[in-house]
Amino acid sequence: MAAQILVVEDEPHIQELISLNLTRAGHDVRCASAAEEARDMMQQALPDLLLLDWMLPGISGVEFTRQLRSQARTRDIPIIMLSARVEERDKISGLEVGADDYITKPFSPRELMARIAVILRRRLPQVTAEVVRVGGIVLDPAAKTVIAKGEPLSLGSTEFRLLHFLVTHTDRVYSRSQLLDHVWGPEFVGDDRTVDVHISRLRSALLPCGLSQVIRTVRGSGYSLCAD
Ligand code: CA
Repeated sequence: MAAQILVVEDEPHIQELISLNLTRAGHDVRCASAAEEARDMMQQALPDLLLLDWMLPGISGVEFTRQLRSQARTRDIPIIMLSARVEERDKISGLEVGADDYITKPFSPRELMARIAVILRRRLPQVTAEVVRVGGIVLDPAAKTVIAKGEPLSLGSTEFRLLHFLVTHTDRVYSRSQLLDHVWGPEFVGDDRTVDVHISRLRSALLPCGLSQVIRTVRGSGYSLCAD
């Protein structure tokens, strides 16, 4: 379950300790020492998860969380807040602005890893290797297989990733640029048509088993996969 994790922490030794443990656990880690720096890095690529220190120079972790939650592109990024504050009301305000979890320093690396695993399973099922069953589709990320209404499907790797994203985010509408971000990655240079082409291929693959209708086009908004 490797994820791209951005660590925003201004204390070098804590940053290093977290980075070391996450890297050892197989995650792809980048670090920033301030919210502004993290924001610049996120212009380039969105992480799967943000580990965010509360007390940062400049913009605080709480304020940064609030900003990220107010923008469509960054609204859904899972955030774990790190803090030396043990008071209940601090924890509550961290969660109120939209953090997914809150860990009090000092914490053990084991605890941090466990909390990360919980959030990734809950928020990012597409980065886990768990088999997904949705509306007649069974997608196995580890085996890279898809069974639709009992029939194996042959999909290209992009269609596979696109379907994986959609079956793990059912009944929500994603714009073409959001799909580009999530499925192709922000470094990918492409336009909306890229998404349309692959959606169309995916529907064609699903057509013989009568499932092409599960992917809805939402006019003016994007695409959505209906779970039932
Ligand atoms: Ca700090």
